Amino acid sequence: MNMPHTIDSIRAGLETKQFSAEELARQTLGFAEAENPKTNAYLTFCPERALAAARRVDEKLAAGEDPGPLAGAPIAIKDVILTRGVRTTCASRLLANYIPPYDATAVTRLEQAGGVIIGKTNCDEFAMGSSTENSAFGPVRNPAALDRVPGGSSGGSAAAVAQDTAVLALGSDTGGSIRQPASFCGVTGVTPTYGRVSRYGLTAFASSLDHIGPFSRAVRDSARLLQVIAGRDEMDSTSAFAPVPDYVAALDGNVRGMKIGIPKEFFEGLASDVGDLILAAVDQLKKIGCEVRDIGLPHTPYAVASYYVIATAEASSNLARYDGVRYTARASSETTLSGMYRVTRDEGFGAECKRRIMLGTYVLSHGYYDAYYLKAQKARTLVARDYARAFEDVDAIVGPVSPFPAFKLGEKLDDPVAMYLSDIYTITGDLAGIPCMSVPCGKTAQGLPVGLQILARHFDETGMFRLADAYQRASST
Ligand code: GLN
Repeated sequence: MNMPHTIDSIRAGLETKQFSAEELARQTLGFAEAENPKTNAYLTFCPERALAAARRVDEKLAAGEDPGPLAGAPIAIKDVILTRGVRTTCASRLLANYIPPYDATAVTRLEQAGGVIIGKTNCDEFAMGSSTENSAFGPVRNPAALDRVPGGSSGGSAAAVAQDTAVLALGSDTGGSIRQPASFCGVTGVTPTYGRVSRYGLTAFASSLDHIGPFSRAVRDSARLLQVIAGRDEMDSTSAFAPVPDYVAALDGNVRGMKIGIPKEFFEGLASDVGDLILAAVDQLKKIGCEVRDIGLPHTPYAVASYYVIATAEASSNLARYDGVRYTARASSETTLSGMYRVTRDEGFGAECKRRIMLGTYVLSHGYYDAYYLKAQKARTLVARDYARAFEDVDAIVGPVSPFPAFKLGEKLDDPVAMYLSDIYTITGDLAGIPCMSVPCGKTAQGLPVGLQILARHFDETGMFRLADAYQRASST
């Protein structure tokens, strides 16, 4: 059996009885397990859960019932998203044996839609990183170039889709962790509007910035996946009440007259081969009828600094629960309470998490709160206003996802600031809470994938998908 790459091809295969959902699940699991040593994309496979979900799809089909919009699709889930009864590690030694007692809402919804979860994917510890090298279980390798990183922190989910071991995947994005690995691995990755998808069951990193979002090959499939997981959830008070439109119905390929802004700040410090691909994509958008104009997002230079104050502040608070009492294995070498906390956290957290806990605690401390945290929040507002102003004149904004393509494993590990600058073009979208995505736009001369970033107004995933899909159709013909 050839592995199908899209939801449509799976549906067609099921309906013409080329394969059953159970056969597809078995085949995918076998393939994924055999391929995994190359990339280390998965930390855990869950064959029992996958086969049970697949059998439910087959039963529904046999009974003539609707098996759901994701029927039979093999799905990989980033290991910061909780799966009941299936180990969820957050790529941390602290949670190496943690079995959650409940499912994230996104997980529940995609199984109700007929999706088949096959396993949990590797990532940076607690989603902190840009390369998936901060995992306690070893780095992930980029399927397009095995000596390079897949991006991060959702590197395992992006690699799984690029490797065809899953048709869909869920990742999480706080400062770029869906778009940047999607760009590095050559797949589609979507960060929805903040609040569009419930965060219930997503391990908190920086709660005011965290999002769950889809990976797929085709834009159309990310739209379908988002359709299923989006919408109000009682279990997350920050999830939005806004109705979920029919994203797929809007994918008519017609973007004639759509106004696209190109922010000049996104082209400063860009590698030339990446810049050439982005400009070629912009030309393609003109050919299909978009009106392109230059815009400014003047507060972009303050985004990385403010993000690393806000995100570390929230992380220092969110990570306090991993103390050997409320969560996690407990260090046994210490007999006093404070000693137990100290040794548990010292042995458990990797270097990047420790760095962030220290930085976050510092910026929140008495005497520094106003100077750092409050200042960063003000800068965040200015970044959000830049976008609001720009969207008075344009319908979407496009630019690069990352200043460079996938870098070599180890290349930036000793220089955290260089690593943080990987996110220079993705972070502003998160600070503003707007929907944004990466769609593949070609490869460099070295064969490394590059993604085009598309950003849109709050809750206008429809316009964003329409543009990305029209571009994908035009560039594949
Ligand atoms: N790379 C960024 C960081 O390290 C973003 C991570 C993310 O989006 N989860 O914080």
